[in-house]
Amino acid sequence: MRKLSSDQQRAFVQHLLRWYKKNQRPLPWRETRDPYSIWVSEVMLQQTRVSTVTPYFEGFLERFPTVEALAKAPLDSVLKAWEGLGYYSRARNLHRTAQIVSTQLNGRFPDTRAALLELPGIGKYTSAAIASIAFDCDVPVLDGNVRRVLARVLYIKRDPKLPKIEKELDAFLRKILPNKKAASFNQALMELGAMICLPKTPNCPKCPVEKLCGARRTGVERILPVKSKRPARPHHHVAIGVIWKDSKLLITQRHHEGLLGGLWEFPGGKRHPEESLEECLHRELKEELNIEVSIKQQLPTVQHEYSHFRVTLYPFECKWLRGRPQEIGCIDWAWVKPQELKNYAFPRANQKIFRARFERELNLSSNSSLL
Ligand code: SF4
Repeated sequence: MRKLSSDQQRAFVQHLLRWYKKNQRPLPWRETRDPYSIWVSEVMLQQTRVSTVTPYFEGFLERFPTVEALAKAPLDSVLKAWEGLGYYSRARNLHRTAQIVSTQLNGRFPDTRAALLELPGIGKYTSAAIASIAFDCDVPVLDGNVRRVLARVLYIKRDPKLPKIEKELDAFLRKILPNKKAASFNQALMELGAMICLPKTPNCPKCPVEKLCGARRTGVERILPVKSKRPARPHHHVAIGVIWKDSKLLITQRHHEGLLGGLWEFPGGKRHPEESLEECLHRELKEELNIEVSIKQQLPTVQHEYSHFRVTLYPFECKWLRGRPQEIGCIDWAWVKPQELKNYAFPRANQKIFRARFERELNLSSNSSLL
């Protein structure tokens, strides 16, 4: 890791802050210091782009304008407001934290990083972001954008996500963090990573710290940061039943714990090796719901990517034959008309099935809340 002299460190901070003052994007959560709004925005921004988050943030605050309103809302309505944003444990933790803040802390957010870290869903990054942006605490943030900028400026030739390197970056940031300006400094660094120091195409001629940047000086700005090799993502094949009983469809609700917890879906499950998709569907429906169906036709296949695996969904239109659904592999189930699907929160992959199957009946457009 390259060392910057005291003068260079000072110049780095000054150039960065000056650039941010002139160039920051006018984002809705930057117009407030309200910890509730900042917390919601920071949780939404985890692993998600600003352009995706902005309409969700505005809609969410309209629906749940205060921490008390969020605490009192049923979890299902919070999940519905989160539908399509992904990583649903964030919404569940948001709801739990709102209840803790509202009932145990008299509606006041803790104003130190250590106390924020005690709340569900608030980790190292989010606690630092809320503490610095809402309460001006002198703590640095270290997210993907900041790691990339520092890996380049400081010419770090190892993966900046390695714990040892993270520690060094944290120590560097604490050293240069300007007193009582953590809110601007942290956001400036993140903004530089989001707007100029892009992963594949850094715009170095427009960068306020170009002259101080080790990667730029040596021409390796597109090579750094180094990434450790990730194991290949598994690919699951899943058979799904779009099951009719008269004019209604069967949907089931996932357990609250785990991936996509609390969301609704069409029932089904992973295919075992050597099993046909149809055999898989019959087995899953028997094991998870204890029902029997006859399979009518296969619907278009749906591909979907999650952060740690990929799935191919094979939906089959089926007719219910016998068995009252049992809550074996789900916590609830319902027979609903296609028009009622919009009242439930579904994962994005299931929404792709609606689009393929019900677009004409439901007159869905690409802007529909179901998509
Ligand atoms: S000079 Fe280029 S590589 Fe260096 S920090 Fe600026 S944008 Fe990133």
